[in-house]
Amino acid sequence: MRIFSGIQPTGSKHLGNYIGAIRQYVEGQDRGDPAIYCIVDLHALTVPWDPATLRESLYDTTAILLAAGLDPERCILFRQSDVREHTELTWYLSALTAHGDLNRMTQFKDKSAKQRELVSAGLFFYPVLMAADVLAYKAQEVPVGDDQRQHVELMREIARRFNERFGEILDVPEYRIPEVGARIMDLQEPANKMSTTGGSEAGTVLVLDDPKTLTRKIKSAVTDSGTEVRRGDGKEGISNLIQILAVARGTSEEEIEREFEGSGYGDFKAAVAEGVVDFLSPVRERYEALRPDEAALEEALTAGAGKAREIASGTLAEVRSAIGVGPT
Ligand code: ATP
Ligand code: MG
Repeated sequence: MRIFSGIQPTGSKHLGNYIGAIRQYVEGQDRGDPAIYCIVDLHALTVPWDPATLRESLYDTTAILLAAGLDPERCILFRQSDVREHTELTWYLSALTAHGDLNRMTQFKDKSAKQRELVSAGLFFYPVLMAADVLAYKAQEVPVGDDQRQHVELMREIARRFNERFGEILDVPEYRIPEVGARIMDLQEPANKMSTTGGSEAGTVLVLDDPKTLTRKIKSAVTDSGTEVRRGDGKEGISNLIQILAVARGTSEEEIEREFEGSGYGDFKAAVAEGVVDFLSPVRERYEALRPDEAALEEALTAGAGKAREIASGTLAEVRSAIGVGPT
């Protein structure tokens, strides 16, 4: 099973990224042959960025992934811009992508509405680059959070269209979305997903937040005027905290509801805070040990890029030959 997934080096990664994606990456290392994980700095250029901050965040994200348990001996971990095949394949695939399909992507609609100065063509093209990321490795499985379902469906369509036209060259990948925790919501705006670039600061729980900050954010999470710790309509805030605690403790949402039957929201939030602190603290501690050694991080990424390029360049040679580009 070839596994591929990407994560943006924008800002600090949050609990949604950790639960929806990073947790699955770690688990995928043992199933993946290979498991390929990419820090997608090119995707980060689709919204305004600062060059120096982007470089820093790239190392932050690398160190978070290693701290979470990715092992460069058991997976391929690399930086997207190191492997030029991604951008080349993006162009070839763009010729098979319907403009109308890109126009109906909800991520494009949401993110373009939030841009104040420039809605870049890059933001519109994001799903094509993402299709190229995955298809360049002929990956069969793509671990992602629920918000990326639509993009994976689109890349499946692009791969099918390519194969119909040019022969069975690309694999049509499946997404892998976790059963619990596929969509962690912003603690202050529980109708919106927790997000690196779009969410509220107080409602975004960062993987690297210290225990005091974690506790403050969770205790001030928006709930509802009711009293029952259970999931349901109009209980988006409480439902979100239930799913978070279930994942943090490695149990089910039903089990959490049973345990907190009759408890008040205050006691419940205190338990969620404690659960999240226990869940994230080991990652933060390992991060603090790993992050200062940028040379070691760079070395791991460079080695990963070498392995990635070997696979991607093979696919690109097949693609070029099939579509009639370059010498015979
Ligand atoms: P942005 O909001 O700027 O797109 P992001 O928070 O979505 O940033 P990404 O790097 O784009 O971060 O996403 C990395 C992975 O995390 C993706 O697989 C995505 O589906 C997953 N993910 C992002 N937000 C959540 C969330 N709130 N709950 C669960 N998974 C999430
Ligand atoms: Mg995203």
